[in-house]
Amino acid sequence: MSKSYLLRQLPAVHDVVKDISSEVSGKPEKEITRAVQDAIKHWRNNILKDHHAIDLKTDIRSLVKNSAKSKLAHPTDQIRSLINASGIVIHTNLGRSRLSEKSVERMSETARMYSNLEYNLEEGKRGSRHDLTEDLIKQVTGAEAAMVVNNNAAAVYLILKALAKNKEVIVSRGELVEIGGSFRVSSIMEESGAELREVGTTNKTHFFDYEGAITDKTGMIMKVHTSNFKVIGFTKEVSSSELMLLKKDNPELIIYEDLGSGALYPFQSEGIGDEPLISSVINKGLDVVSFSGDKLLGGPQAGIIAGKKNIIDILKKHQLARVLRVDKFTIAALNETLQSYMNEDYTEIPTVRDILKTPDEIREVVWRLKRKVEDHPSFIIRILEEFSQVGGGTMPDVKLPTFCLGIKHPKGAEYLARAFRNYQTPIIVRIKEEEVLLDFRTISEEELLTVEDAIRSID
Ligand SMILES: *Cc1c(COP(=O)(O)O)cnc(C)c1O
Repeated sequence: MSKSYLLRQLPAVHDVVKDISSEVSGKPEKEITRAVQDAIKHWRNNILKDHHAIDLKTDIRSLVKNSAKSKLAHPTDQIRSLINASGIVIHTNLGRSRLSEKSVERMSETARMYSNLEYNLEEGKRGSRHDLTEDLIKQVTGAEAAMVVNNNAAAVYLILKALAKNKEVIVSRGELVEIGGSFRVSSIMEESGAELREVGTTNKTHFFDYEGAITDKTGMIMKVHTSNFKVIGFTKEVSSSELMLLKKDNPELIIYEDLGSGALYPFQSEGIGDEPLISSVINKGLDVVSFSGDKLLGGPQAGIIAGKKNIIDILKKHQLARVLRVDKFTIAALNETLQSYMNEDYTEIPTVRDILKTPDEIREVVWRLKRKVEDHPSFIIRILEEFSQVGGGTMPDVKLPTFCLGIKHPKGAEYLARAFRNYQTPIIVRIKEEEVLLDFRTISEEELLTVEDAIRSID
């Protein structure tokens, strides 16, 4: 009964348009009408879904008005900045890595001015954009040669297409992964025209499996980092250094490893995960490796390819390299990120900094905020020990000890999470057992005031 009562309170579109048009002056009538229609639809859905959460005395017309005004001020169908309080550092849905301040500055300067993107300043003539990234990548990875493409999926595609088209590529069945729902090794292989030759089983693949699968049609052995899952128990995989032994009898064979995330910082020696350093993989003498720019590396979206010079030369010359090339902003941001690694200024890189934050540092911040907001009339607020995640399909079994602000609200956790999401700077939280958790690992110092304001403004 209360449901139909609430539905009847939904206002007519033209009434709300009339109400708010003077307050949102400057917006075209069409845009206002669309925002009001969306707001009415939104509140109708809310009533249908969970009318118990809405007080019968609520003024539905002003809710609709506020939603429409907020939508006009902060369109949700355009890209918006938000605060990630989920504690997942590399959150693929929230844009993966934040960039360092230096990267951001370099990007905006590159946007504002002309640049030497494809211009050789020494010779005063046309240059190549590859030259702007190659040296830095070579220095931080120890590779002979390197190049950058749009993302790691593009890198995998280019490598398979340019080096293994119409040939067989041997992959362990334990490594035929799907990442993020849209990247499947087997599908990308099919697209590239390379033929997949599966060996071994899901949990065990031996050296002799690879060895026995090599024929004169074999072009490559591909190893894939099983980023987002772990096979535990009765398992066996063959390391890339063992695979290198196969080159003795098959000198033409290309050994390629898709490293997925690829660490340039030794997280492993800090006791965080077992991600190998890219330089140590390159050091084994593999022909080619690829990894993402915006996962553990903490840079812009990019696919970095590093390896033997003769291999990289083939890739650079392939037509697809032009199709998959990166723009000047990516190059600017990547330059600065890699420069931070070169200078060993690791904490300039937000992704690295946030993964390395200690529970003590985080607790100090949560305490400070809790003291400021604990008098909130309708919240029950506490501090609790929890775990953050690295995210980005990286180190799925690693739990980073952290501290969270736990907030309970009489209207429930879903209501509260939505209120945080609808704040002018949306705040993305996590919910655990009817409690909203704000994980301060992924909230930066500059964002604290906004979080405090949001907590105060929600009732
Ligand atoms: C993430 C990942 C990819 C895809 O990389 P993008 O940069 O997201 O395109 C490919 N392979 C592995 C193993 C990955 O972990």
